[in-house]
Amino acid sequence: MDIGRRDVLLGSAALLLAPAGSACAATERPLGYAIVGLGYYGLDVIIPQFVNCEHSRLVALVSGDRAKAQRVARAHGVPERAIYSYADFDKIRDNPEIDIVYVCLPNGMHAEYTIRAARAGKHVLCEKPMAISVAECEAMITACRKADRKLMIGYRCHFEAHNLEAMRLARSGAAGKIRYVRSEHGFVQGDPSKWRLKRALSGGGSLMDMGIYSLQAARYMTGEEPVAVTARESTDRRDPRFSEVEDMIEWTLEFPSGAIAGCQSMYSANQNHILLMGDAGRIELEPATRYDGNQMWVGKDGRERKITPPPGPAKTQFAGQLDHMAQSVMTGRQPIVSGEEGLRDMRIVEAIYRSAREGRTIKL
Ligand code: NDP
Repeated sequence: MDIGRRDVLLGSAALLLAPAGSACAATERPLGYAIVGLGYYGLDVIIPQFVNCEHSRLVALVSGDRAKAQRVARAHGVPERAIYSYADFDKIRDNPEIDIVYVCLPNGMHAEYTIRAARAGKHVLCEKPMAISVAECEAMITACRKADRKLMIGYRCHFEAHNLEAMRLARSGAAGKIRYVRSEHGFVQGDPSKWRLKRALSGGGSLMDMGIYSLQAARYMTGEEPVAVTARESTDRRDPRFSEVEDMIEWTLEFPSGAIAGCQSMYSANQNHILLMGDAGRIELEPATRYDGNQMWVGKDGRERKITPPPGPAKTQFAGQLDHMAQSVMTGRQPIVSGEEGLRDMRIVEAIYRSAREGRTIKL
């Protein structure tokens, strides 16, 4: 991999791409993670990834289901004394093995557990969306800053080989001057009783869950911050799944260069796509942001090339993310997807909802 070239192009991603072991001379052991919330993502996706990490290890579990936590602890060599409930969560303060708390809870609980973790003296990796309002995001950043702890958001695509290569190609002008980006993300949501369909825990519907990927893609593919947003929602409120949150929402972002992004998210169709059109060609990913199996093409001068990106610096995007946070803590550098990055998205999310509600363009 051409590490030097990428460092220049992606700037702050340099730390992420540092050769294995180089940033870790300052410590003798991998940093210890406590996983909070043993649901689909925390238990099935993240915990199995520690075997792929170089600088991170699993040392504690936080769960409302002690029997489940005990089973998981036995399977992963976590001592019984390092299992916590939500009620006694603050006792993590007394466990020096825990360096980082990874919040894998429903969105509406992210702020509380991030703030409590920071007050307990722990660094925080918090799942997307960062929280359910700008005010919560600001409170999380303040709490971490006050406690002098790092805060990172689980934007795993910044550690995924296809997305990294797409960003690099976009920046290097592979498609010419960027004219527009399209990105759509969604899946068919089934059970109406799920927390994702309850506003208090989710903060919203498909936008909060999958739309975050479309929004992120618009920002990291253009490398620009939007100045205006116009949105429209389409939800069948008679459908019991959507009595509290939106199904489909689409929005247009205007960027200072004149580029625009047309984004969409939905809970009633399976979609996972990013397209960047420039005045000289296109970069397209489909599927774009899955855990694996992503594919990418570049079209230019009438030729279509399927791109196999150089392997990422870590074994998987998840291990890259976990180790990047550990390395950020070890070196004292800001994670490339910090709390401020989550806050930027949440400001736009609030503007998208407002635009859809009020039927007008919102300046950002
Ligand atoms: P799940 O419903 O599968 O798991 C959430 C877990 O949170 C539960 O299993 C439970 O763990 C705990 N919990 C505590 N209180 C509640 C409550 N009131 N209702 C429901 N669960 C509760 O959700 P996911 O794992 O799919 O999502 C968790 C977070 O991860 C979300 O923020 C989501 O956006 C994010 N996510 C990110 C993905 C990514 O690719 N980056 C992919 C999927 C999710 P316990 O029983 O241990 O207490």
